[in-house]
Amino acid sequence: MANSIYGALPTTIFTVMSGRAREMGAINLGQGFPDEPGPRAIVEAAAAALVDGSNQYPPMPGLPELREAVAAHYQRHQGLALDPRTEVTVTSGATEALACAFLALIEPGDEVVLFQPLYDAYLPMVRRAGGIARLARLEPPHWRFDRAMLESVFSDRTRLVVLNNPLNPTATVFGEADLALLAEFCVRHDAVAVCDEVWEQVTFGNAVHRSLIGFPGMRERTVKIGSAGKMFALTGWKVGWLLAAPALTEVLAKAHQFLTFTTAPNLQAAVAFGLLNSDDWFAAMPRTLEASRDRLSQALSAEGFAVIPSDGTYFLNVDLSASGVAEDDTTFAMRCVNEAGVAGIPVSAFYESEPVRNVLRLCFAKRDETLDEGARRLAKARDLARGR
Ligand code: PMP
Ligand code: GLN
Repeated sequence: MANSIYGALPTTIFTVMSGRAREMGAINLGQGFPDEPGPRAIVEAAAAALVDGSNQYPPMPGLPELREAVAAHYQRHQGLALDPRTEVTVTSGATEALACAFLALIEPGDEVVLFQPLYDAYLPMVRRAGGIARLARLEPPHWRFDRAMLESVFSDRTRLVVLNNPLNPTATVFGEADLALLAEFCVRHDAVAVCDEVWEQVTFGNAVHRSLIGFPGMRERTVKIGSAGKMFALTGWKVGWLLAAPALTEVLAKAHQFLTFTTAPNLQAAVAFGLLNSDDWFAAMPRTLEASRDRLSQALSAEGFAVIPSDGTYFLNVDLSASGVAEDDTTFAMRCVNEAGVAGIPVSAFYESEPVRNVLRLCFAKRDETLDEGARRLAKARDLARGR
């Protein structure tokens, strides 16, 4: 009775692990969400807009004030000139934005280049849209692509390339040279880049986020996707956007009009307020997360775990085999949640083929006590795995 692609799909690992963590009363370092409530002023703006504003259908492409605030934000923070009327579409989260891009741009049989590890939603949605996936495979500890890898996956049938930068789950930020190389391939193959940049504001240390849309030849062939959920640590809000040149935006909006048509008006108004009034938040938020990253990293190192560097996102990864865990990531992750009271995400879940099986992803957007206790419990799980 089901479509064959969706019929064969398992429930996403994020839901499985959060469900198990709830059942076991475990500390949840799996699914990526912060345990702080988010910026109070923005939440209050949403409450005020709900009570005092309109609760009827907002305009299909988004509230004008939000589209203007989005364009102004990217001008200030990334030097991008976007026309709010013809180049910005508000969606119900980045997830809807991705669906719009795949539905609007893929013709059945088109090849779509993607990078493993893959965010869970990409492959099913690309295939459901009729795309043929061509998968490049990234490996720890650097998780980078090179020219030979791109040569092997691009072809004269390549229609799209999907890039997540900063990359979840690897916590890497692609640099200037990586992006220039990918741009060269997009231009050569006349492909459109769908850039999932929901983590653009969450970078650490010297890592600088650069957007592929800013590279030569990419302005007219890039769909840039953002999410207020990640910018403001309000992951349940599901307010996102598609940024693209007018010809692309026109067709993206046609997909959006029949997926959700629009997004809750009070949340749109509050995100517009947030974008215009959050300089302090944007400066402080990555530094706070960086301190949490360091806290978890140090606690894990003190317990003898081998931590892979994290340059962005809410996540850091542990190399299990280098940490004295002989079990594969999924077995160990189940042991952690069932026997030691701490949930993480096995990175093999982000691979379609030849999975990397020795890396566990942990979310550090949590209070210090939670991180310290999480590290202790992970060490306990390792002892159990060693039969101690
Ligand atoms: N893409 C990536 C890479 C993500 O990590 C997430 C959520 N963490 C999303 C998309 C989904 O974003 P949203 O909640 O705005 O739909
Ligand atoms: N993006 C979040 C993560 O990577 C999860 C989102 C979801 O559960 N759909 O953990």
